[in-house]
Amino acid sequence: MTKFTLAPLPWTDTALEPVISAKTLSFHYGKHHKAYVDTLNTLVPGTPYADMKLEEIVKASAGKDPKVFNNAGQVWNHDFYWRSLSPKSGKPSGKLAQAIERDFGGVDKLVAALADAGKTQFGSGWAWLTSAGGKLKVEKTANAESPMSKGVNCLLTVDVWEHAYYLDYQNARPKYLEEVLGKLLNWDYAAANLDKESQPVRSAV
Ligand code: MN
Repeated sequence: MTKFTLAPLPWTDTALEPVISAKTLSFHYGKHHKAYVDTLNTLVPGTPYADMKLEEIVKASAGKDPKVFNNAGQVWNHDFYWRSLSPKSGKPSGKLAQAIERDFGGVDKLVAALADAGKTQFGSGWAWLTSAGGKLKVEKTANAESPMSKGVNCLLTVDVWEHAYYLDYQNARPKYLEEVLGKLLNWDYAAANLDKESQPVRSAV
């Protein structure tokens, strides 16, 4: 059964160079991401997850079924990560730019907060820009976890598992973060995700 497929990358495998090399993508997308898809396809047939969409599986398995959650979560997180990156990064504009100014005091401060979240995530995980009721927030999660699994709307993410940067930056996670956050964030994707937040989520602040 191949219910889930490895979604195509939104750009060519050299498009993110030199920040992220084609070699990193060949392992990160072609091996790691693919393995999560393949494993998930072995886990869901004949279970209540079989009729669910990916996002529903992530939410339904969170805290209950670690094997399913880890693989479904990593498929969703990676799909979201690739779409969070673009060789045509640009700058935030419109409603997103206004929200960044209001909630962080500017894009430089937002980027610094994302870098700090990525650097201080101990071990494997992710740094996120999220929105709740239109209010922006930076969060970090471990392993396969995401704010989405708790119903929080995600705008952007950066993978800080070692496999995301080791071939290009070795142990220098801060340098990887500086390069990716400064050159590859897909602000159009963040703006589209902010617009998607139809129902305000009550945050636990
Ligand atoms: Mn990864």
